[in-house]
Amino acid sequence: MAAGTVATVGVGWSLHSSWNENDNAGQCDMTNETWGLVRQELLKTVGKNNYVNWIEPLEFDRLEDGVATFNVTSTFVGNWVSRNFGDSILNEIAKAGEPVRRIEFTVAKTRAPARAAADATGAADAELDRMIKGTSTSAPEAPAVHAQDDDLPGADLDPRFTFDSFVVGKPNELAHAAGRRVAEGGPVTFNPLFLYGGVGLGKTHLMHAIAWELRRRKPELRVVYLSAEQFMYRFIQALRGSQMIDFKQLFRSVDVLMVDDVQFIAGKDSTQEEFFHTFNALVDQRSQIIISADRAPGEIEKMEARIVSRLQSGLVVDVHPTTYELRLGILQQKAEQFRPQFPDLRLADGVLEFLAHRITSNVRVLEGALMRLFAFGSLVGRPVDIPMTQECLVDILRQSDRKTTIDEIQRKVCDHYNIRISDLVGPKRTRIFARPRQIAMYLCKHMTQRSLPEIGRKFGGRDHTTIMHGVKKIEELKSQDSQIAEDLEMLRRALEA
Ligand code: ADP
Ligand code: MG
Repeated sequence: MAAGTVATVGVGWSLHSSWNENDNAGQCDMTNETWGLVRQELLKTVGKNNYVNWIEPLEFDRLEDGVATFNVTSTFVGNWVSRNFGDSILNEIAKAGEPVRRIEFTVAKTRAPARAAADATGAADAELDRMIKGTSTSAPEAPAVHAQDDDLPGADLDPRFTFDSFVVGKPNELAHAAGRRVAEGGPVTFNPLFLYGGVGLGKTHLMHAIAWELRRRKPELRVVYLSAEQFMYRFIQALRGSQMIDFKQLFRSVDVLMVDDVQFIAGKDSTQEEFFHTFNALVDQRSQIIISADRAPGEIEKMEARIVSRLQSGLVVDVHPTTYELRLGILQQKAEQFRPQFPDLRLADGVLEFLAHRITSNVRVLEGALMRLFAFGSLVGRPVDIPMTQECLVDILRQSDRKTTIDEIQRKVCDHYNIRISDLVGPKRTRIFARPRQIAMYLCKHMTQRSLPEIGRKFGGRDHTTIMHGVKKIEELKSQDSQIAEDLEMLRRALEA
């Protein structure tokens, strides 16, 4: 019969994998009935999730000369079960009174043509490998890997996104510290690590940095990074192709799962459902999960309550909007980084400071602006100074001038008063919520170009007269209450920073 990969577990609890010839000609000592009883015991020891995903699909083949053999769908499944549940299985069979020394897993050949080791279900392994290794060829720590097929959306790691190139400042120091801790690959302390913040603030950079670092320190760990969108895509593909078991096994076999931009699956019910199960299974088996989103778990609309509470159960860290100091730090670093591409470029004093001051939206824009400026400077062969910067970046600078958004104002006000966005925009009328709400309305009126009805919509669908009332109230209070005047000033400065 066909050769299959066999992973074995011995009585000495030692694990090893080997290639074996499976001639399938043995007789059964242990009956399927006994295996049924053993399975019931295993359900108790490994838990329901693991049982359903790993134990139940095992097909008992035979017990011969103290060796229990099971058929599995892929090498990968065999290795996984052997690694994680081998001891338990062996134990339970022994407890049932069967003379067992070792268990083996044989890959049953079904649909695949006999193509050496590449059995059909081995595709899951290959896929996982691809996801784990990424596709990048230039990262220092990365093993060279071939580019992947377009129809296999593995998750590339950007070689530029490492801890070395991540500039730490006040707004991201907590996120950075948490990321560093997870990247050590020690015992799981907070699970999940949930990173959130506005676009272009370095969440993806940080996640890739964690992945690179883990690969370097703990190459044996299965680290998978992908976007929530890719998760959904894979899920849908698996559904269509009736490969849900493979899908589940794939995702439940990782040691570290990173899902970027999880807000994407909000409102996508079946994907959410699957994500929830994957999440729970991984938490149960103590695998590390790292999630990012553009807002806090509780603020993601159309995200199921049980998922939100799961997302909040670990460490939730906010990546704050950049400060002037951080932007300058990043610009200095990027200028160094771009330097080799523009060897003749001369950069006048004050240009980086000017950019840090004027472009406050996000790091991606900042980076793009600097790159364009350098390219322009080297093209025209003049030193890059402030007048040239103004000329070259006129569009970006103009956009940046009207940058403050209602969302930003709401977030800042909530941070300042330590309340949640949901309470800020919600119906509660108590002063601890009502006052910050009015302050936020006031700032929106004065710091954005948005109309009162537009602002009203962003405050839980309030009428424009309510907004007007709030703005008037704060105008009044500003001159009477020094605390409010001070808060307003601080918030305004923070928003302009
Ligand atoms: P997000 O995922 O939060 O939208 P990204 O991680 O994609 O943001 O970051 C956008 C760009 O800004 C990337 O090129 C990234 O390298 C850069 N960037 C963001 N924060 C930092 C930082 N603290 N240090 C260096 N580069 C940063
Ligand atoms: Mg991102």
